[in-house]
Amino acid sequence: MLGTVPDRRAPAVPPRSRRLDHRRPGAAAVTPTSYWETIDPLLSQVRKPAQYVGGEHNQVASDWDAADTRWLLCYPDTYEVGQPNQGIQILYEILNERATALAERAYAPWVDMEALQREHGIPAFSLEHHRPLWAFDVFAVTLPHELGHTNLLNLLDLGSVPIRSAGRSVEDPIVLVGGHAAYNPEPLAPFIDAAVMGDGEEVTLEVDDAIRTWKRIHLGDGQSPGPDARGDLLKRLAAVEGVYVPAFYEPRYYDDGRLRQTVSVEPGVPSRVPKRTVQDLEQWAYPRKQIVPMTETVHERFSVEIFRGCTRGCRFCQAGMITRPVRERRPETIQKLVEDGVRDTGFNEVGLLSLSSADHSAIGSVARDLADTYEGTTTSLSLPSTRVDAFNVTLSNELARNGRRTGLTFAPEAGSERMRAVINKMVSEADLLRTAETSFSEGWRHIKLYFMVGLPTEQDEDVLAIADLGIKAYEIARKYGKANKVTLSVGGFVPKPHTPFQWVAQDPPEEIRRKLSLIRHAIKAHGGLKLRTNDPEEGVIEGLLARGDRRVAPAVERAWELGARFDGWHEMPTLETWMQALAETGVDLDWFSYRERDENEALPWDHLDSGLEKSWLWEDWQDSLTEKDLDDCRWSACYDCGVCPGLSIDHDTGYTGGFQLPVLPQGLGGGSEDLPTAPERYASGS
Ligand code: SF4
Repeated sequence: MLGTVPDRRAPAVPPRSRRLDHRRPGAAAVTPTSYWETIDPLLSQVRKPAQYVGGEHNQVASDWDAADTRWLLCYPDTYEVGQPNQGIQILYEILNERATALAERAYAPWVDMEALQREHGIPAFSLEHHRPLWAFDVFAVTLPHELGHTNLLNLLDLGSVPIRSAGRSVEDPIVLVGGHAAYNPEPLAPFIDAAVMGDGEEVTLEVDDAIRTWKRIHLGDGQSPGPDARGDLLKRLAAVEGVYVPAFYEPRYYDDGRLRQTVSVEPGVPSRVPKRTVQDLEQWAYPRKQIVPMTETVHERFSVEIFRGCTRGCRFCQAGMITRPVRERRPETIQKLVEDGVRDTGFNEVGLLSLSSADHSAIGSVARDLADTYEGTTTSLSLPSTRVDAFNVTLSNELARNGRRTGLTFAPEAGSERMRAVINKMVSEADLLRTAETSFSEGWRHIKLYFMVGLPTEQDEDVLAIADLGIKAYEIARKYGKANKVTLSVGGFVPKPHTPFQWVAQDPPEEIRRKLSLIRHAIKAHGGLKLRTNDPEEGVIEGLLARGDRRVAPAVERAWELGARFDGWHEMPTLETWMQALAETGVDLDWFSYRERDENEALPWDHLDSGLEKSWLWEDWQDSLTEKDLDDCRWSACYDCGVCPGLSIDHDTGYTGGFQLPVLPQGLGGGSEDLPTAPERYASGS
């Protein structure tokens, strides 16, 4: 887990006292006071106190009383992990640009701070004004993975908001989730009011419109809301495309425990909720005013998303599958965002972000132009790309003109060519070794290679091929310098929804541990070749929550009650707690995680439409079993995965004029400057 701290002892989880109760009837109608005066004297007692202070450069301090809708945007982990999150920074800006809305941020307090908050009656609070969570209209939580679920429950409890949606009143905030883990929110269904599927820029403003209208109708002119007011708000949210309200859907099961179907039980709500896709990223050039962190964070750099989506078709990769199609930013937009951002923030490192940054159709000129701009300065550029080829090394050389050639990272993902055909990561061993040769011969001193074990159809020989590849790469490294290094970074595979591997059985942690020890043993004689592994137990909770259904929810609640927090942190070994919670609530890990599903089994996320046809995912899974690879559809024929139809995407031209699929929304070629931007179209508050 990112953001580790040196202290390996498990900190004591604060006893969960009674629900904090600071609220008075009608309290949300008055301006809440800041808790800063109570928080400030306590900060000398906690680790990393700066994370609770706020006041960073580019923080927005909007007028509470002038806003019709107030959002608390939350990343359910510590400030050091969550602060750089691009999704929150984007939504923060576009909401605060709106005259009628206000957005503040919150992160999960570490356990030392939580204990003090409970002791001194301080609710979960916003960073900007230290206002209590309960006072906001919306508590919007991004879930990049599943290991923040217990933190989400803890924040609700600490924020004096009922844990379960059914227990909330009009006084309580609407609890929204988004992000990749929201593509299967079923294990959180009783705790959230709604999940937002897909890109957040447009849908967030539509949700804001719906809430503002609802407030005007039900709470305007000091009137008292009727008994159905909260139900009406949920209906208004469900009417926004891309918003899923779990209370309006019910799962039905067969007697043997398999899911039969999840059906809508509220008239008018869609039987399948489609994801939202921002078709033209050019119109949403955010964040423009990136917040500069107050203290150490996991990524301290100015980040620009150069494109969204990926069509390489890696079968294990949920991010690649659910963010299709590819939408690029124009080179000139990237250049301007970088120049403005570096000037405004003072960061001296720039990251060009995407799922596979070297795949931008104009990446060569983007890298060259940026390198020209910052040559001779202290600003360094980085491409956190994992593509395994010499072109990537050339790009990195260009971007490293200003700095030392230290480390490069590549992700072959699997050791044998057979295994790479199964996962559709088509890199030959020769490609990989040639890339290593190019890297070390051009002065790079360290390469890191990412792999997974526990992949479908994997045999021990595939696992040992990881060690073999590492040894060969290390022999190349040594040719160019005794101090050169190769690190193998190996984690256990966790199957995710909306991917071709959504049906497969996950390897239990004992099996992952055995496979890792095979690698460790095989490289023992090569002292300079380093092996870094993830704790095999980390994948247990992640796997359960990724593919669980609503029957897992009581276990989430019980695990939190028993003290589970920060489930992805080494410092918080919560597996034992979870095992107790599973035993008490009767949730069977074998059933949810270690069992292969068949084609006809209904899946808990079937009613949530990521755009990918289930039949295509199944076909791709069968292709994987015959080791059949699939090309990137940007450079070859469309293989009809289901995502693009209906999206007004022109498949034939790209911003750079080359043949490229799919990039340019129809009707915007060459004339897009004359069209209103999306924020203009979503005019503030009117
Ligand atoms: S519909 Fe075709 S072009 Fe679009 S992402 Fe799927 S395979 Fe690629």
